[in-house]
Amino acid sequence: MAEAHDVIVVGAGPCGSTAAYEIAKAGYDVVLLERYQTPGELNSCGGGLGHFLIKKFDLPEHILHKRVRSVKLDLGWMQKTYRADEPIYVSVKRTEFDPFLAERAVKMGAQLRLFQRVDDYDPFHKRLKVKDRATGEHYDLTAKIVIFADGARTMAWPNCRIGVDPKRDPAVGVAFELGWPGNPLDTFEFLFREHELPYGYYWVFPTNDTLNVGMGGPVKQLGGRIGEMLHEFIDSRPELKDLPIVRKSSGLIPTYVASQLHGDGVMVVGDAGGFVNPLTGGGIYLGMISAQIAAGVAREALQQNDFSCAFLSRYTSRIKRTPFYAGLKVFHAVVGYSQAHLQRTGKPVLGKIFKLYSDIGDFALRRL
Ligand SMILES: Cc1cc2nc3c(=O)[nH]c(=O)nc-3n(C[C@H](O)[C@H](O)[C@H](O)COP(=O)(O)OP(=O)(O)OC[C@H]3O[C@@H](n4cnc5c(N)ncnc54)[C@H](O)[C@@H]3O)c2cc1C
Repeated sequence: MAEAHDVIVVGAGPCGSTAAYEIAKAGYDVVLLERYQTPGELNSCGGGLGHFLIKKFDLPEHILHKRVRSVKLDLGWMQKTYRADEPIYVSVKRTEFDPFLAERAVKMGAQLRLFQRVDDYDPFHKRLKVKDRATGEHYDLTAKIVIFADGARTMAWPNCRIGVDPKRDPAVGVAFELGWPGNPLDTFEFLFREHELPYGYYWVFPTNDTLNVGMGGPVKQLGGRIGEMLHEFIDSRPELKDLPIVRKSSGLIPTYVASQLHGDGVMVVGDAGGFVNPLTGGGIYLGMISAQIAAGVAREALQQNDFSCAFLSRYTSRIKRTPFYAGLKVFHAVVGYSQAHLQRTGKPVLGKIFKLYSDIGDFALRRL
């Protein structure tokens, strides 16, 4: 007999832990499965978050690094620095951020099971096959609702045809953390080098004791060269090239929002649903919002004892009514235009669009 639960969340990244927290808060039985020994252990990220997230998600001081008031945009042919009176961004480390969110879900009553990898999901019997990586044993779990928060390579796609297809035009990102304890930097840098990387960008984001230096772009364009390109970028900057690399990570970034986000007894949140800003590659905020909405629908389904596809369609319709979904659609249209323009004329425009985006953000911060 498989062990049965109200809700099983696959993946203790920011979105899985957010969903588990919100469901446990209502007193339901929720199990959060994570394949690694520690949440965030191998998760790849620049660690840049909008400063407003601190209040929105009640983030404590001890997981926050630099509060960033200035942003430098370097398009190669022009540089511009934006400065604000109040912090715009905050930097975090996923090795601290993810464990905090998972522990918070546990404090609310969720059961966190680490080093447990989900190997298969049978949507007809709502049964997960799990491997305990510590003992090597396999066991089955069932739940009234399964929430896939397992990132851009979600198993919801091959098993239920919901969420994002990892093979559909994915982007890839790589991040190196360079050790620099006590560094004085407090600016986020976005650098476009469109002759070599027409659809992506490099970043340099400081934390209290590291610089997170990374780049991202389409897999098709970068292929296996991404690590090499980042090394070349670091070597081209005298202030970076002698710093030790203390952590390396890479990951896929979805490039579209999934059209199907729910099924019978199942929902996808975060990267698994494609909730990533296509202009910046940032997905933590949008993904955590999607997790809150999915958790709200899961609570209602548990109250009404209805886990059908028709009931869970509330999740998709609520997502589609949010302002962030409308914003995502606009960003996808703009990025799609920039790609078509590049193919037609050979001229990249993503940097200019990013500048316009930054100018609008800067204007809004000053005037609104
Ligand atoms: C290089 C890079 C830089 C980025 N920089 C930023 C940034 O600066 N700011 C930002 O907002 N976003 C950034 N992003 C995007 C951001 O990392 C994602 O949007 C975010 O992590 C999505 O959260 P998630 O919880 O949906 O998925 P993830 O963070 O991918 O978490 C998924 C979790 O599920 C677990 N898991 C997967 N499969 C299984 C399984 N079968 N069984 C059990 N557990 C499983 C994984 O181990 C992982 O812990 C970046 C992405 C990359 C690749």
